[in-house]
Amino acid sequence: MERLDRFMARANAAYYATHDPFRDFTTSPEISQVFGEILGLWAAVSWASMGRPDPVLLVEAGPGRGTLMADAQRAVGSVAPGFGAALRLHLIETSPRLRAVQAKRLPQATWHDGLDTLPDLPLLLLANEFLDALPIRQFVRHGERWFERFVADGKFVECPESPPLSPLPQGEHPHVVELNEPALAIARALGDRLAARPGAALFLDYGPERSAAGDSLQALRAGRPADPLSTPGSADLTAHVDFAAFAAAARGAGAATFGPLPQGLLLARLGLFQRTDRLARTQSPARASALIEAARRLAEPDRMGRLFKAVALCSPGVPVPPGFA
Ligand code: SAH
Repeated sequence: MERLDRFMARANAAYYATHDPFRDFTTSPEISQVFGEILGLWAAVSWASMGRPDPVLLVEAGPGRGTLMADAQRAVGSVAPGFGAALRLHLIETSPRLRAVQAKRLPQATWHDGLDTLPDLPLLLLANEFLDALPIRQFVRHGERWFERFVADGKFVECPESPPLSPLPQGEHPHVVELNEPALAIARALGDRLAARPGAALFLDYGPERSAAGDSLQALRAGRPADPLSTPGSADLTAHVDFAAFAAAARGAGAATFGPLPQGLLLARLGLFQRTDRLARTQSPARASALIEAARRLAEPDRMGRLFKAVALCSPGVPVPPGFA
């Protein structure tokens, strides 16, 4: 028997070590190159508003194939060469397999297992679909008592003796409550850092604006929902991100926070459609309509535009980051 977060950590470590995750699901940077380009420009504008520190860390957490950062760096190189020259690229990635994929596209990067080994420098951080892969705990209420979910033989087992949630969610609350302890620890660590030296971090992920409602654990195998508890390591396990709790943890440690905003709204404000149109004009008609369709997929509310959210964590006193005003 294994606590759900330990099961999920083990399953995802095995999954990311042995699979090409992008066979099982696709992500925004893989859908359109403009996604990474405008996030690179977001970082460049944030850097300028911090007073152009040189050197500055450009960090990505959970870079996958390295697509977002490759697109970001290309855009920065042509539009904001000063930022391009000042930035030092650092990647947070635990999968040796994905590190090797990233090294092919981003050979100048330095890799880390977590935030704590990053150099002490001003920081810009980007993370897309990183928090949703971190292991969660789940608590179930029966009457007035809370039980914690463990996994045994591919099934949930509820154990009453686990330490109770404090404080217990009151009033109207779902039957199942989720807790993403690593995400909250990252929010606190970033909050500490941002309070001590200048920086800004942008997280995009999927989840509701208010605290997570109910059981959101899911598995995708070959693009289809699968049983999250069977054959650990064969599917990607994710859970919705509780953005309100994430932002509150960062504020508690001293950061200013902005959002969450729907992804579609942020991308539109950052110029997704203008940049896509400009790029499309230089392409064949088939490629141009594919680019426009990709931008719509990222931004339309009934597609990825509303379920996905963006939240920014910043040093106190730094101007409102681009797209959040
Ligand atoms: N950001 C990419 C990939 C998302 S998949 C994209 O949008 O396409 C999740 C990424 O986070 C993978 O690179 C995975 O290996 C990494 N990851 C998962 N758990 C991690 C952890 N605990 N620490 C560091 N990286 C992790």
